[in-house]
Amino acid sequence: MNYFGITTFWRKKNLTADRKRPTGLGKKNLAYLLFLILISLFYALRYGTSVSGEPLLDTKVAMEGYGESLRMNMGSVLPDTIVINKEREQLLTAIEERIVTYLYRIPDYSYINSLKTYLRFRPKLLEQFPSAVPLEKGDYFVSSSYGIRSHPISGKSKKHFGIDMAAPLGKPVYASASGTVLDIVHSKNGYGMHIIIKHRFGFRTLYGHLSKILVSKGQSVEQHELIGTVGSTGSSTGYHLHYEILKNEIQVDPMLSLNLKKTIYTHLIEPKPENDGRK
Ligand SMILES: [Zn+2]
Repeated sequence: MNYFGITTFWRKKNLTADRKRPTGLGKKNLAYLLFLILISLFYALRYGTSVSGEPLLDTKVAMEGYGESLRMNMGSVLPDTIVINKEREQLLTAIEERIVTYLYRIPDYSYINSLKTYLRFRPKLLEQFPSAVPLEKGDYFVSSSYGIRSHPISGKSKKHFGIDMAAPLGKPVYASASGTVLDIVHSKNGYGMHIIIKHRFGFRTLYGHLSKILVSKGQSVEQHELIGTVGSTGSSTGYHLHYEILKNEIQVDPMLSLNLKKTIYTHLIEPKPENDGRK
């Protein structure tokens, strides 16, 4: 009797404890989960969300390190240039894949600065994403920049998702990088007659308010290829090209891209000084 009584009591006690346990641990789990979410949020905000696991800013620092190694290699005063060229080529090949992944991940042009030295030796990459001006030099001036502005027609304060390049009617418009024509739109408002081109590394470009479209949907285009002519179709107050760059589906400021190719090419063909001021 007594024996059974104790056992029953012990069982009852255990059952209540068992019933209570999940709620107690649940609260702890919840707190832990919240803690993890907060930590992830902090890192996501600080470094940007990453696909390959490494925080983007860490990759940026690594890229700058590679750039420094390349600059040191270029500045080498050793007479045997074959050895130096071989070393440089080995370094470039070793980081090739990392650069490509980085180009896909970066959110805007500010990150491309860390690749400038590398791009000098891989200029082909500069043809595959927007790095050139879509109009001819002397044909245009930038009449409106990217960002918040008061809309020329409505007068309301609104974000401008591209830049406006004022140019005379009929001036040629070129693709700013190689790619595939993703869409051709004939609209009476908005960007009017416009072209959207898809490039490598998650880039897209949009050319708006055109008077003529000289390419078709699905067509492959080269960088600097003629694609249309300047006009004033859609919501426009004068002849100009509305030029937009999207990186991973989000509009970015195209200004930094305009002279990118030229700047890097100039460095590439610039003769290396004979000595660094030494005699
Ligand atoms: Zn515009």
